[in-house]
Amino acid sequence: MIVDIHTHTFPGKIAARTVDKLQSMSHTHPFTDGTVQALRESMAAAGIDRSVVVPVATNARQVPRVNDASIALNESGGGVLSFGCMHPDYDGWKSELARLAENGIKGIKLHPVYQEVNFDDPRFLRILDRCAEVGLLVLTHAGKDVGFPGAADNVSPARIASAMRQTDGVALICAHMGSWRQWDDAERLLPETGVYLDTSFSLGAMTPNGDGYYPTPESLRLLSDEQFVRIVRAFGAERVLFGTDSPWGEQADSLQKLRALSLTDPELTAVLGGNAQKLLGL
Ligand SMILES: [Zn+2]
Repeated sequence: MIVDIHTHTFPGKIAARTVDKLQSMSHTHPFTDGTVQALRESMAAAGIDRSVVVPVATNARQVPRVNDASIALNESGGGVLSFGCMHPDYDGWKSELARLAENGIKGIKLHPVYQEVNFDDPRFLRILDRCAEVGLLVLTHAGKDVGFPGAADNVSPARIASAMRQTDGVALICAHMGSWRQWDDAERLLPETGVYLDTSFSLGAMTPNGDGYYPTPESLRLLSDEQFVRIVRAFGAERVLFGTDSPWGEQADSLQKLRALSLTDPELTAVLGGNAQKLLGL
């Protein structure tokens, strides 16, 4: 089974507008139009059995509405599975997390950069502990964000390690191989914390949207094959989950890049789906 643990879709009405806004912020190329239908077509073309959609709450107000949509999306089936969302300033965090678990949601997505709160802030720590309590996985954006150049140290490897020291038992997935463009620190500080990694938007190079923002091939470069494999082995392949960040990564191409690495067959089987299957209880 092949599972993509990190994808994005948007409701039909706002998909085009949202993808357009995000591509102009990140200056990178989207590979689908952001709709669920397009994700399903991409999965069929790539041979991916399940995709996990990870919605981000950019304000506290929208939390219950986004979560209602996630619960509804799960009822639609077709290999697409949605996590819920949470915002650090949402007052009803405690009961809302329980509601998600009761409705069969497997995890939540956090985005400390968009949410402008540090990952080791008490408002996040209480969410992490509550997720452990009600059995929700947590997938967090980690490291720098391509849409916020230069800024934003909200979810650095040091802050992730600090949050893990102060919480108890949460199953935490750190996106983008532990911390986007803070990979040396991720490699140094995170293996001993017990966190999982997803592989999204980390290997090779970004695909520019053609607006000329990135001046050189060097400015598009992400992890080298060598460091990618070294990180997998530092954490152990059983703690690494295949993800694409679709529409910001292309599913078939991302799969092909992973298969071309020097990982062993058992390592690859675990990364591409075995680990996610266990974590998600599929
Ligand atoms: Zn993402």
